Amino acid sequence: MHKITIAKGDGIGPEIMEATLDILRSAGAPLAFEEIEIGEKVYLSGNTSGISTEAWDTIRHNKVFLKAPITTPQGGGYKSLNVTTRKMLGLYSNVRPCRSLHPFIATRHPGMDVVIIRENEEDLYAGIEHQQTDEVVQCLKLISRPGCEKIVRYAFEYARQQGRKKVTCFTKDNIMKQTDGLFRKVFNEIATEYPEIASEHWIIDIGAAKLADTPETFDVIVTPNLYGDVVSDIAAQITGSVGLAGSANIGEECAMFEAIHGSAPDIAGKDLANPSGLLQAAVMMLNHLGETAVAEQIQNAWLRTLEEGIHTADIYREGVSTLKVGTRAFAEAVIHNLGKKPEQLKPAASAGSLMLNLPRYQRKQPAQKKLEGVDVFIHWAGYDANELAEKLHRMEAGKLRLTMITNRGIKVWPNGFKETFCTDHWRCRFQPTDGEQLSNKHILELLAHAVQDDIDTIKTENLYSFDGRPAYSLGQGQ
Ligand code: NAD
Repeated sequence: MHKITIAKGDGIGPEIMEATLDILRSAGAPLAFEEIEIGEKVYLSGNTSGISTEAWDTIRHNKVFLKAPITTPQGGGYKSLNVTTRKMLGLYSNVRPCRSLHPFIATRHPGMDVVIIRENEEDLYAGIEHQQTDEVVQCLKLISRPGCEKIVRYAFEYARQQGRKKVTCFTKDNIMKQTDGLFRKVFNEIATEYPEIASEHWIIDIGAAKLADTPETFDVIVTPNLYGDVVSDIAAQITGSVGLAGSANIGEECAMFEAIHGSAPDIAGKDLANPSGLLQAAVMMLNHLGETAVAEQIQNAWLRTLEEGIHTADIYREGVSTLKVGTRAFAEAVIHNLGKKPEQLKPAASAGSLMLNLPRYQRKQPAQKKLEGVDVFIHWAGYDANELAEKLHRMEAGKLRLTMITNRGIKVWPNGFKETFCTDHWRCRFQPTDGEQLSNKHILELLAHAVQDDIDTIKTENLYSFDGRPAYSLGQGQ
């Protein structure tokens, strides 16, 4: 018996959870359920995280969590419980299989069978945001080597375990050379350890377009958090419905399984919701727990039900569907089909555990790190970068000289274009003229001069080289 945590969530959550649990029980899944309360009620009781300390304890103790969708109340101050759960529990890998069920579910892509492996903890989802000037807000994009290694290795190990042939990486490393550049570099490194699996890289924009157009050319896709969030919904939608897909969030200790859709308040309580997404999540959970036989049985019964044309309203189509059913009747039809296999769709094959046994990240030898200068960000409400440069020359201290000013990343001094639109947020680069050794002391002197000259410095970023390689961006247009 595996004891797992369940949460019925909000909106359609309780209905689809009941349907899923009925199927699990009828199939004889060896599961015991411990229920916790999360979501809207908890948020509105004044808990801005949507989850109590006791509920955390239950999740951490049972390690496996089946979660129905929740409603995050409108308005500020409420944190996304999903993002918090993924990060607090170290659920670094989001696995989303997106497979067409042609001809039973309408899709333009009958041959589609893609698994998206989305990095789940980093990127812009670190949620570190600041407003520093009247006109500009920023969000920090954090990508780490351990984060990249874990997710890329997971993708290749998953492909190997599932007998898949190709792993594709999506990034935007032509623009974000440091962050996405690191993700792609790690992808290239790790790909060489899996010679039997083909590997390729697409820039995310054209890659996403190609995925939407010819998804059958993709197999496993690995990508940073934000891109993964977007492309996995596109991929699920073009298989026929977001109501059909489940996802797994896998960590080294714990795992969380959920439908990919939200709490659908528009159809809540009406017995209209399709429980398939949560059921698919439950099947992934059973595989994860090593209960592959019961997982296979449920999956085959579900495929058979869809084949028979017993469809909820979201996937019902005249001519293909035979019976429009509600949530409960759909679950009953799946239960009725337990023990049967689909006749046309490919039956489920036994899948291995999603908690792949990956090596722990080993910290590398530190590189030779050298301070090469500093970017000082300044709040200044003027418009003419030449005027700002005049002011900044006065704060030059010791070895540091102003070498460049950019505005939103575009070089505006020296030799800027008058056509470039400027905000009140300026990046001012100071570097030593003679390539001499710098230290943080020189930066402090520079900032002290700025205070004296009444220059509003809002933050600094040190410029480093690692093993002689400059590890910072240049100004665009430079
Ligand atoms: P949604 O996914 O809830 O609904 C989008 C559309 O799809 C709606 O028309 C809905 O009726 C339909 N739909 C969704 N699931 C369906 C199902 N199983 N069967 C039939 N139709 C289904 O997205 P939304 O409307 O943008 O969000 C509603 C709420 O859900 C918001 O509060 C949002 O924060 C929350 N949400 C939660 C999660 C989660 O808990 N994992 C994920 C996304 C959104």
